[in-house]
Amino acid sequence: MGRIVLLEEHVVNKIAAGEVIERPASIVKELVENSIDAGSTRIEICITDGGFSEITVSDNGSGIAPDDAVFAFERHATSKIKNAADLENVLTLGFRGEALSSIAAVSRLNLRTRTADSVSGTGLDIEGGNVLKNYDTASPQGTILTIRDLFFNTPARRKHMKTPNVEAGHVSDVINKFAMGYPEISFQLKTNGRLILKTPAKGNLRNSIAAVYGTETAREMLALEGANDTTELRGYIGKPSLSRASRHYQTIYINGRFVRNRIISEAVEKAYHSMLMTGRYPVFIVKIGLNPSEIDVNVHPAKTEVRILDNTDLAGFITEEVSRVLSESRLIPAAVFPKKMFPGITPVKPVQQSWQAESIGLASSKVSETPRAEYCSDENFSAELKTAVTGIAAPEQGFPSLKPLGQINGTFIAAQGDDGMYLIDQHAAHERILYEKFMARPDEHTVSEQLLFPVTLELTHQEVQTLNENILSLTDLGFVVEHFGGDSFIIRAIPAAIIENGAKEIFLDLLDYFSHNRNTISGKTLKEKLLITMACKSAIKAGDRLGMQETESLLSQLAETRNPYTCPHGRPTLVHFSGYDLEKMFKRVL
Ligand code: ADP
Ligand code: MG
Repeated sequence: MGRIVLLEEHVVNKIAAGEVIERPASIVKELVENSIDAGSTRIEICITDGGFSEITVSDNGSGIAPDDAVFAFERHATSKIKNAADLENVLTLGFRGEALSSIAAVSRLNLRTRTADSVSGTGLDIEGGNVLKNYDTASPQGTILTIRDLFFNTPARRKHMKTPNVEAGHVSDVINKFAMGYPEISFQLKTNGRLILKTPAKGNLRNSIAAVYGTETAREMLALEGANDTTELRGYIGKPSLSRASRHYQTIYINGRFVRNRIISEAVEKAYHSMLMTGRYPVFIVKIGLNPSEIDVNVHPAKTEVRILDNTDLAGFITEEVSRVLSESRLIPAAVFPKKMFPGITPVKPVQQSWQAESIGLASSKVSETPRAEYCSDENFSAELKTAVTGIAAPEQGFPSLKPLGQINGTFIAAQGDDGMYLIDQHAAHERILYEKFMARPDEHTVSEQLLFPVTLELTHQEVQTLNENILSLTDLGFVVEHFGGDSFIIRAIPAAIIENGAKEIFLDLLDYFSHNRNTISGKTLKEKLLITMACKSAIKAGDRLGMQETESLLSQLAETRNPYTCPHGRPTLVHFSGYDLEKMFKRVL
């Protein structure tokens, strides 16, 4: 790192102010950011009692020069920017010079640090912001910061904190984000002496995902890689079958910084349109690279939001790239589901033996001058290092060629594929075919056609109200409806795509849909909703017998759809039993 300077007042005034130190997890975030900015390749984090008793962050980065050590704890002391113009081109995670001074003010802190070119290291004891001791000490190259008794002098703040377990969960979340953001850095997190996470520093994002979410999940992720003139896009997106009930498993980085960004989340989600059931969200890790002058990082106290100065094309580009990856991939869920996809917010991820060896290899550099036990008080992790995360094969591409074998329960089609057996849900498959056919020419399918035998309807009071409110939309969709006295109505014409005897049911479904989605339906969504309902009502049903020719035609039409893997509601159209799965079921392999 360069030398530390105090920012001048006019620069300080430009900095988005805010308390960054609100909980142990925010301290850990700031300290790890400092370690990354210092060029570390190995960062170890240990917390005790959720971080309230102790937080230690050790790194093998640049270290702090002896003359700078005390200075680093001054407010607005930073080596990362010098003037206001630098704020427009921030290349580091930190830039405000606030974190160390804020942390030192509310804890008992010990620093040990050494730069490559100083013979002796520096030690510093600070309590509640007061420097108690500044001394020479032996130290490996890098920085070790230990924070004890957090909020000891502000007990009111301590009271607002959640339990140590909850805090440990937040810390683990933070480290997970760094681990996936920086696969080239080896991260290790221990809480109360127990190893929670260790990443291999192989620079391979899929391996880091495996360390965080587990091998099964990492296997179900698809690589994303694209670029245009202004944007670089990398990462992994989950197959639709990996969807979750919240956005918690969506991680976005802009220029290496973990951020929350609704526009980007929605741009990714848009590519999953009609592949996920309502209320489900895709899992993804998306890394966006932009010219630093194109973003403003100085907008949020905890730096978890950035402003993208011009995002007109960004969302479109992301949707396009994600769509491309999804359309090129084989998205068929395996019939034998992994037992546990996500081990929870503090996953204890087993680590491959060789990673351990590798990190010991790392320790043979200058860092080895200090035994590992110096960094963290406990070393009992080896028992947890079991599963290997090697050879995660890239998922298969393209729709398999299917040879139908027969129908099961009049509902499913069994087929032989290129590897093993596929079971196809005939209704879901036909729904997908019709939906795409209708969506290709929506206007053609919503042309009004007179009914030979008009349909009369008795509506409830509420339905009448909904009908009155939405009569224009219904007309636009191709329905012609007349009042027939009292609560009775006549449907005289229906959209071309509806089969006559489905008219009443679809009409009532739409009224129901309107009453539940007041003010939220745009014309386009509505037309799509109608077409989905029509596809559903017109598709073959479970229980319909199919001849071999019909079955073959159904499968070949499915293969030609844009997304053959889910019905328009997001349910799977087919599942896969691989040859290996079948052999496992029959105990031919173990
Ligand atoms: P900022 O990161 O915004 O500069 P901080 O208060 O977090 O502010 O840190 C102040 C300064 O202390 C940094 O600019 C950096 O020079 C130095 N520093 C802090 N942590 C480390 C570290 N782990 N390794 C090397 N230098 C560090
Ligand atoms: Mg910092």
